[in-house]
Amino acid sequence: MKTSHGIEIHPGQLGLSFSGGADSAVLLYILLSTVTDTLHLYSFYAEKKAHIAEPITDRVLKKCIELTSNSNVVHHKEYIKEQTPMLVHTLLQSYIKRDSLSKMYNGISKFPPDTVIDQFKEQIKFDDPYVYQRRKASAVYDLYFGENLSFYRPLANMDKKDVADLYRQLDLESNLFPLTRSCETVSSPDQHCGQCFWCEERHWGFGHLE
Ligand SMILES: [Zn+2]
Repeated sequence: MKTSHGIEIHPGQLGLSFSGGADSAVLLYILLSTVTDTLHLYSFYAEKKAHIAEPITDRVLKKCIELTSNSNVVHHKEYIKEQTPMLVHTLLQSYIKRDSLSKMYNGISKFPPDTVIDQFKEQIKFDDPYVYQRRKASAVYDLYFGENLSFYRPLANMDKKDVADLYRQLDLESNLFPLTRSCETVSSPDQHCGQCFWCEERHWGFGHLE
């Protein structure tokens, strides 16, 4: 079945790669609103950032449970030394097998247009595989996702403005959105630096950071 927002709800046991950012948070809300089986969430905490990242995932999950009245979820927490896209991808693949998932959802969304990114203060390296696949989200599915049909990225063709529209349609802009974090450089779960690439993208999409 498909939700009214064009997101396919696959049969079987589903998983979601969950960072507590705006993209994975809205997917979590949609899945908890529609799925009746146990939902498996996978969060990765790099050693140096765990004290910031973990409280963010916890509060976003708590809010989604409260909003949907669905708490049929298992939150798998993985503490890793350093977070690289390849490590996360390899671990997610192993969890698909271990937990007999039919699909692993991933909230990866599309970058803003180049003309917008060119105006950002911070320019990021586009040769990073994660960055590259977001840059080319609509065209390139096989960088390291390959032909792996176990992964599903329903937001791959949506940029942050489209994601913001989704928040507005679902009435989540004032309650869920402020609990999410996109910033990579803050020293507390309650901040956005406002300067980094991810903050600028968030501001471009939503018109505000909080
Ligand atoms: Zn920032």
